[in-house]
Amino acid sequence: MATKGIKHLIKPNLANITSYDPVDPPEELAKRAGIPADRVIKLNGNENPNPPHPAVRDAVAKTPFNIYPDPLQRKVRAALAQYTGVDADHIIAGAGSDELIDLLFRLFIQPGDTVLDFDPTFGMYAFCARLAEAKMKLVPRNEIFDIDIDAVKKAIDSRSKIIFVSSPNNPTGNLASEEHVRALLDTGLVVVVDEAYFEFCKQSAAVMVPEYDNLVVLRTMSKWAGLAGLRVGYGIMSPSLVQHIIDIKSPYNLNIAAEAGLLASIEHAPELQKHVDTIVTERERMVSLLKRLPGVKPWPSAGNFVLAQFAPGKAQGVFDGLAKRGIFVRKFGSERLRDCFRISVGTSAQTDGLIAAMKELV
Ligand code: PMP
Repeated sequence: MATKGIKHLIKPNLANITSYDPVDPPEELAKRAGIPADRVIKLNGNENPNPPHPAVRDAVAKTPFNIYPDPLQRKVRAALAQYTGVDADHIIAGAGSDELIDLLFRLFIQPGDTVLDFDPTFGMYAFCARLAEAKMKLVPRNEIFDIDIDAVKKAIDSRSKIIFVSSPNNPTGNLASEEHVRALLDTGLVVVVDEAYFEFCKQSAAVMVPEYDNLVVLRTMSKWAGLAGLRVGYGIMSPSLVQHIIDIKSPYNLNIAAEAGLLASIEHAPELQKHVDTIVTERERMVSLLKRLPGVKPWPSAGNFVLAQFAPGKAQGVFDGLAKRGIFVRKFGSERLRDCFRISVGTSAQTDGLIAAMKELV
């Protein structure tokens, strides 16, 4: 029987969507560079160069995979309450903070609503807006990448629902000040402060959660605890908003291995924080080495990555040269970041390999 195929049945806004541009795993990068996977220097995903705590491996190995995880995440939320100092009824976990971003869109956004973020920033907010048929208003950051409160107020319209602010901002590395976050909260819209890199700077809006029922703070275990592959993040918000998220999430959204990994990591948080401190020290060493390269400007960063800016027209060539040598950093398509790329902070040996290659390329 002749058929018209099924493409015409797909929702029109999704059939030709611009998808999120994710990072490939090391074995794919290795194929591209023509080298073995263990020689790849992967500095494009803001991942932790250290393996998770050994207790995570033990805990995951003992996990009863034949049993569904707890839909109310009781142990996880209790452990996160202890870790964050916020009561468990303010906390909900997801399959990465990515899932929580998606759930916030599902909860608040109807087609045609508007969402605001500060450009340049993490691409997931705009991607979820495309999925949800929301209108994304990208409010440009100023010349030092700070957020512009007057501009955001002007951009708000009657359909505006959520403002996203990444702090530290991926990929520029700077923090949003408490004063700015309060000014955003005073607009009355939902304000999502994405603190994926909190452990690298320890500045948080979480203390304001009891004060503002329109504040959502997002965190993740991907970066500081090295659990990116297990997919586990969490949000801190009012108990009623937590309940709304519970009502719409898929029941077993946090898989049982992620749950075990999170619990073991929280138990060993002080040791993991030492690794984080090492990464922060390495970041500052990388910044000082980058500064010595001609025509390279590393922006100050409070995260586990650095945005490097190059003389006009130079960044793409350096990026391509690094990739040929098996060193992968993150380049963005936007006009504003045309002369930049983002470098995740890895081990000292990886920094040395990167700098040696960049000396040949700049
Ligand atoms: N928010 C920001 C600002 C990020 O940079 C990232 C990861 N790149 C995430 C959220 C997503 O983190 P997760 O692994 O928890 O989904």
